[in-house]
Amino acid sequence: MAKQIFRKKKNRNLLLNYFKPSIYVQNVNKINLESLKKHGIKVFICDLDNTLTPFYRRIPNTDNLNLIQRVEKLGMHFVLLSNNAKKRVESFANKAGIEHYYWNAKKPLLKYFRVISKKFNVQPNEIIMVGDQLITDVFFANRAHIESILVVPVAGVDESNRLVRLLDRLVYKRLAQRNILHKGFFDEGEYGIDYDIL
Ligand SMILES: [Mg+2]
Repeated sequence: MAKQIFRKKKNRNLLLNYFKPSIYVQNVNKINLESLKKHGIKVFICDLDNTLTPFYRRIPNTDNLNLIQRVEKLGMHFVLLSNNAKKRVESFANKAGIEHYYWNAKKPLLKYFRVISKKFNVQPNEIIMVGDQLITDVFFANRAHIESILVVPVAGVDESNRLVRLLDRLVYKRLAQRNILHKGFFDEGEYGIDYDIL
């Protein structure tokens, strides 16, 4: 009986690991891109809403443009992967000069992980996923066995998916209870230090 309880507990922790980011930073500009490059990352997948920009803002800012430029200058591909609609994603991508973008991605489903891997001919260890949500972006990354970077949502609210936000908050709470992740306790943004691979 005792053994069974222990196993159940362990499984629950294992499940929570699917929501654990490899790196947690305040925002996308804190990411040490050179260290990603150094560790062999070739494809930088980035969420759009509340990661790059608030969901209501249509125009990329200077920081966005700089980030995209720096990623590409280092020889990595910048890929926009959003669960939002075509109109929103395409318009932003065009304004930001992003060549590779996918809308309606349905993260955490892995359809576009396969599409992107094939397109750029890369292995999971050559891809990183950057996003603001545990149950879409980080879960997507862990299901795909790729590393992930979690950022704080740039806007507090996201009207488009209240349920996702609610679940996200719940997972944050559980991760904190288990000492896996604490809101606001950021990493340095350097890849390869103090992270676990599933
Ligand atoms: Mg987002």
